[in-house]
Amino acid sequence: MTAFTPDHCANCDAALPFQPSKNVTLYCTEGCRQTAKVIRKARVAMANGKFFTNPDVRYGVQIALAHALAGGYAGKARRLPPEVKQAVRDQADGVCEQCQEQLGTEIDHIDGDSPELPNLQLLCARCHRAKTDLRMPPATPESRTRIEELWTMRVLVSEPARLCDSEEWNDMSTRLKQERRLRLGHVPKKSHHKILTCEEVTGTAVFGSLVALTLCGTPLRDGVCPTPERHQGDA
Ligand SMILES: [Zn+2]
Ligand SMILES: [Zn+2]
Ligand SMILES: [Zn+2]
Repeated sequence: MTAFTPDHCANCDAALPFQPSKNVTLYCTEGCRQTAKVIRKARVAMANGKFFTNPDVRYGVQIALAHALAGGYAGKARRLPPEVKQAVRDQADGVCEQCQEQLGTEIDHIDGDSPELPNLQLLCARCHRAKTDLRMPPATPESRTRIEELWTMRVLVSEPARLCDSEEWNDMSTRLKQERRLRLGHVPKKSHHKILTCEEVTGTAVFGSLVALTLCGTPLRDGVCPTPERHQGDA
């Protein structure tokens, strides 16, 4: 059975509050959104074997899961414009600012999310990874249990346990968001399937200037009453 309850978090089932904006979400927190994203990524990496054959993939999944369980990585806040990235590269002459040996390929926030040049440095992949490992808070017994739980219940199962674990989630979520918007009253129900009857349109629109009519109430065909002979009054 694939779990999903409308108006509840797709990842943890917590009830979602009313959202006043049309920009609705299907998760209760950023951490839940990122957890589901890592689960999907991990399921794909297990299925195609890359989790075992490619250390970068395995490392990426582990780091992303740790971030997600810690409340989510501030990816959006940390995105840098191209001209800032170029300034960091120029400042370091393209060389890793840590080991001063390797080619610098990754831009690192020295501390916190500030996008200002003094807080940015150019690192090689190895130095960047070493720093990330060092900064990663040590796994608490609770987070270890949580990771094991997610792994056995959601990654190592052939059928997705939750709808948000499925590979089709990204396509499905568009429709699910639209349905949630409808339930929250953000989008007026579409009315173009409704068949207008002769009575429901104004006499002016259908019969030009002849409005002194008693209309018959027959469903319109191509916007025009099929039975004008039933109208009473001057035609
Ligand atoms: Zn949640
Ligand atoms: Zn380096
Ligand atoms: Zn009519």
